[in-house]
Amino acid sequence: MGRTLHCPEWEEKLSLYVDGVLNPFDENAVEAHLLRCESCRATVELWQAVGSSVRRLPRELPPPDLRERI
Ligand SMILES: [Zn+2]
Repeated sequence: MGRTLHCPEWEEKLSLYVDGVLNPFDENAVEAHLLRCESCRATVELWQAVGSSVRRLPRELPPPDLRERI
Protein backbone atom coordinates (compact mmCIF):
# COMPACT_ATOMS: atom_id res chain seq x y z
CA MET A 1 0.00 0.00 0.00
CA GLY A 2 1.42 3.28 -1.07
CA ARG A 3 1.80 6.12 1.35
CA THR A 4 -0.94 8.52 0.46
CA LEU A 5 -0.42 12.17 1.07
CA HIS A 6 -2.87 14.13 3.08
CA CYS A 7 -5.73 15.87 1.38
CA PRO A 8 -4.84 19.30 -0.05
CA GLU A 9 -8.35 20.56 0.59
CA TRP A 10 -7.87 19.95 4.31
CA GLU A 11 -4.43 21.49 4.54
CA GLU A 12 -5.51 24.93 5.72
CA LYS A 13 -8.01 23.60 8.24
CA LEU A 14 -5.45 21.15 9.59
CA SER A 15 -3.03 23.99 10.09
CA LEU A 16 -5.61 26.06 11.97
CA TYR A 17 -6.61 22.98 13.92
CA VAL A 18 -3.06 22.39 15.09
CA ASP A 19 -2.83 26.05 16.07
CA GLY A 20 -6.03 25.64 18.06
CA VAL A 21 -7.72 28.54 16.32
CA LEU A 22 -10.26 26.63 14.30
CA ASN A 23 -13.91 27.42 14.95
CA PRO A 24 -15.89 24.64 16.68
CA PHE A 25 -17.81 23.70 13.57
CA ASP A 26 -14.70 23.15 11.47
CA GLU A 27 -12.95 21.55 14.40
CA ASN A 28 -15.63 18.88 14.50
CA ALA A 29 -15.28 18.38 10.77
CA VAL A 30 -11.51 18.03 11.05
CA GLU A 31 -11.76 15.55 13.89
CA ALA A 32 -14.29 13.50 11.96
CA HIS A 33 -11.97 13.54 8.96
CA LEU A 34 -8.96 12.55 11.04
CA LEU A 35 -10.81 9.48 12.24
CA ARG A 36 -10.95 8.09 8.75
CA CYS A 37 -7.92 9.68 7.14
CA GLU A 38 -4.65 8.24 8.30
CA SER A 39 -2.51 10.59 6.27
CA CYS A 40 -4.13 13.73 7.67
CA ARG A 41 -3.81 12.28 11.13
CA ALA A 42 -0.11 11.74 10.57
CA THR A 43 0.21 15.30 9.31
CA VAL A 44 -1.47 16.72 12.40
CA GLU A 45 0.68 14.59 14.65
CA LEU A 46 3.80 15.71 12.85
CA TRP A 47 2.85 19.38 13.09
CA GLN A 48 1.98 19.02 16.74
CA ALA A 49 5.33 17.35 17.32
CA VAL A 50 7.46 19.92 15.55
CA GLY A 51 5.45 22.95 16.62
CA SER A 52 4.09 25.69 14.46
CA SER A 53 7.42 27.50 14.11
CA VAL A 54 8.96 24.80 11.97
CA ARG A 55 5.88 23.52 10.29
CA ARG A 56 6.68 21.61 7.15
CA LEU A 57 4.61 19.33 5.07
CA PRO A 58 5.90 15.77 5.04
CA ARG A 59 6.69 16.04 1.37
CA GLU A 60 8.22 18.32 -1.18
CA LEU A 61 5.72 20.76 -2.54
CA PRO A 62 6.00 21.64 -6.19
CA PRO A 63 6.52 25.34 -6.87
CA PRO A 64 3.26 27.30 -6.88
CA ASP A 65 3.38 27.98 -10.60
CA LEU A 66 3.77 24.27 -11.26
CA ARG A 67 0.84 23.45 -9.02
CA GLU A 68 -1.41 25.80 -10.92
CA ARG A 69 -0.62 24.06 -14.17
CA ILE A 70 -1.53 20.64 -12.84
ZN1 LIG B 1 -7.28 13.61 4.74
